[in-house]
Amino acid sequence: MAVPDRNPAALLFENDTKKLLIDAGDGVSRSLAGAGITASSLAAVALTHTHADHAGGLFWLLQQMKLESRRLPLTLLLPEEAAAGLDAVNSWFHLDPARWSFPLKIKTFTENTIIETAGFSLRALTSDHIREGASWSFILQAGTKRVIYTGDIHSLDHLLRASEKSELLISECTHVTPEQITVFARKAGIQKVILTHIPPELMNFIPDIGGTFVCAREQETIEV
Ligand SMILES: [Zn+2]
Repeated sequence: MAVPDRNPAALLFENDTKKLLIDAGDGVSRSLAGAGITASSLAAVALTHTHADHAGGLFWLLQQMKLESRRLPLTLLLPEEAAAGLDAVNSWFHLDPARWSFPLKIKTFTENTIIETAGFSLRALTSDHIREGASWSFILQAGTKRVIYTGDIHSLDHLLRASEKSELLISECTHVTPEQITVFARKAGIQKVILTHIPPELMNFIPDIGGTFVCAREQETIEV
């Protein structure tokens, strides 16, 4: 449900000034503007899936880039089946990438695809949120640091396939419980967990896993 003080899913990852946005929920353009970040400074945008709370702000964001007369190419990372519908939605919004001042490069991913973009190596793992192949989580690597980001999920089983050690787990907690996340974090040896996609009743829930386990706040910045 929409609430006055929090936007739906949109997380900005930055490595050495290169910017990667994962998910583009409604309000993302306004949030970026509020943080003093132009839409055109994003090197890449990746969607975990196309539910409106993760993708509803994408087309207004693309329109910002058009209005800013962006020149640098933009990489848009999409699940393979979502890419198939992009032209129709662009057309519905009267957006014509062929006429834009910047090239839009579409890259699609399937299970275990590794994409190098915006200073990150991104590995895609499908989850059971909608059905296999329709919703995804990512393992992000920059240098020796690794972060796991879940899209929407109903279990964390798919993440067990990513067995290497990660510094941070960023997990949604609307479709999985903090207890499930805690069990996974313990099993994977992850000390720091940040909860996103938080239902109001969990905003102040902080389980004890012997590390840091926090609820993300709007516009919060975290260094790994
Ligand atoms: Zn969803």
